[in-house]
Amino acid sequence: MSQPLYLYNTATRSKEVFTTDQNTVGMYCCGPTVYNYAHIGNLRTYLFEDILKRALLWLGYKVKHIVNITDVGHLVSDEDTGEDKMERGAQREGKTVWEIAQMYADAFMNNIHDLHILDPDLWPKATDHLDEMIELVQQLESRGFTYSTSDGIYFDTAHFPAYVDFARLDPQSLQAGSRVEMGEKKAPTDFALWKFSPRDVKRQMEWDSPWGMGFPGWHIECSAMSLKYLGQPLDIHCGGTDHIRIHHTNEIAQVEAATGKQFARFWMHGEFLVLDKEKMAKSGGNFITLDTVKQRGIDPLAYRMFTFTAHYRTPLTFSWDALHAAAQSLQNLKKLIPGESAEAADADLVSEGIARFGEAICDDLNLPRALGVLWETLKNPNLTNATKRAVASEADCILALDLLTRDAREIVTEFTSATGEVIKFISSAQTDHATLEDIKLKIERRKHARARKQFDIADAIREEFARKGYVIKDMKNGTTECVLP
Ligand code: AMP
Ligand code: ZN
Repeated sequence: MSQPLYLYNTATRSKEVFTTDQNTVGMYCCGPTVYNYAHIGNLRTYLFEDILKRALLWLGYKVKHIVNITDVGHLVSDEDTGEDKMERGAQREGKTVWEIAQMYADAFMNNIHDLHILDPDLWPKATDHLDEMIELVQQLESRGFTYSTSDGIYFDTAHFPAYVDFARLDPQSLQAGSRVEMGEKKAPTDFALWKFSPRDVKRQMEWDSPWGMGFPGWHIECSAMSLKYLGQPLDIHCGGTDHIRIHHTNEIAQVEAATGKQFARFWMHGEFLVLDKEKMAKSGGNFITLDTVKQRGIDPLAYRMFTFTAHYRTPLTFSWDALHAAAQSLQNLKKLIPGESAEAADADLVSEGIARFGEAICDDLNLPRALGVLWETLKNPNLTNATKRAVASEADCILALDLLTRDAREIVTEFTSATGEVIKFISSAQTDHATLEDIKLKIERRKHARARKQFDIADAIREEFARKGYVIKDMKNGTTECVLP
C-alpha cells in the first residue's frame, strides 16, 4: 500500500498503522435489529463504516465485509431481562415477527442504498445460524465457562478475568455499585448465551437445543456469524460506541474463552449522533428516519455530507438547520467542480492533490480535514479545470457524494451555430429563449472580435457577462460553456 493507514483501535486506545497478512481484509459490522426503522443516528455509524471500507478499497485492499441482521434475541434491557425487541415490535404492529423482520430489513437496505453505502458481501441473519450459535455455546460449556439458571444458560465472567480489559472496567465498582437486575445471575456482568422460552408465553421464534426450547442471546449471534464468515482473528470489528461496554465486551469474552485465541485485531467505534443532547434511541419512539429527511425534500446525500462535518470519533449534534447547511454546502462544492473538458490535467498536481486528500483519510479517516483539502483544491486559481476535476473524481471514490454528476435541477441546452460552433448553456432554472439567443450572439461576436484582434469589443462583452454573473468557459475542444446563475 502506498501510504500507511492509521486507525484508532479501541482495544489499545491508540492510533495504529493498519496491516494485515491476509489477502483480504475481514470486516464485521454489527447490523441492525430489525424491529423498527433505523434512525439517522444508526445510519451515522454505517456511514463511518462505509468510509472505512471505501478507504481500504481505495488503498488497494480486497475487503470481505459482513453486516448481520439481528432478527431475534436482542432484549429490551441490556441485563438479559425483558421482552425480545422483535416480539414486542410484532405485537405493536399486529404482524408476525418474520414479517416485521423482512419489512424493516428491506427498509434498512433502501436507506443504505439512498446513502451510497456499499452493500456488504453478505447480510447473514441470526435466525439462519442457530446451529453455529448452539455449537459455540456447547464449546463454552465444555470449557467450563457456563452455568444454567431457571431462565437460561449464562456466561460465567468470574472464569474469564480478562473480561474487564476491553472496556477498562473497574472490577471493584462493578460489584459494589451494581443495581442491575441480577435474577439468578452470579455476577452482574454475566450474560445470557441461551434463553429458555417463558413457560407462560408462546414465543413466535423459538428453537430446540441441548438445554431446551428457547432462543439465542444477542451477543452469541454476532460472534457465531463473524467466526463462520471471517475466521480468527478477524481484521476489523466495528459498531457504535455504546457497544464497547457490553455487546463487544461480551463478544470478546465468549469467543476468546471458547477458542483461546484472539477474536479481532482492530475494534473501531463510531460516536453518537445526538439530538437535543439526548442519545437518539429507536426504542424511545423519538427518532428521525431517513424517510423523514426525504419527506422534507432533502437529498439523502446531504445527510451523508452532514456526517462528514465531524470526525467519526466526535459526537455530532443534529439539527435541521445544520442539515440544510450541509445540503447547501454540497451544492456549493459541486458547483466548484468544472465540467468535462478535453484538456489534459497536470499529472503532478493531480497526484499532489490526491495525496493530500488521502493523507487526511489515512489519518484515522479524518473527513473534515479531507473535505477541507478538496475545497482548497477546487478554489485554487493556479489549478486548471481538468486538474481540479481529476482530484474531485478521485476524492469521490471515498466521499461518494455524486460530485461529478450534474445536479438534477441543472438544465443543459446546447446550440450549434451556423459556423459549427457549439455553445452549451448550463443553468439551474429555465432561461427564456430570447436571453439564450442574446448570449449566443454575444459569444459568437466575442469569438469573432478576438479572432480579428478587436480586444476592446471582446473585453466589453466579457465584462457585461461578468456583471450579469454568466461564467463563460472556452473549452479545449472548441466548444464554449456558459454557466448561468
Ligand atoms: P441497533 O439497530 O440498535 O442494534 O444499532 C445499530 C447500530 O447503530 C449500532 O452499531 C449502534 O451502536 C449504532 N447506534 C445506535 N444509536 C446511535 C446513535 N445515536 N448514533 C450513532 N450510532 C448509533
Ligand atoms: Zn454485534
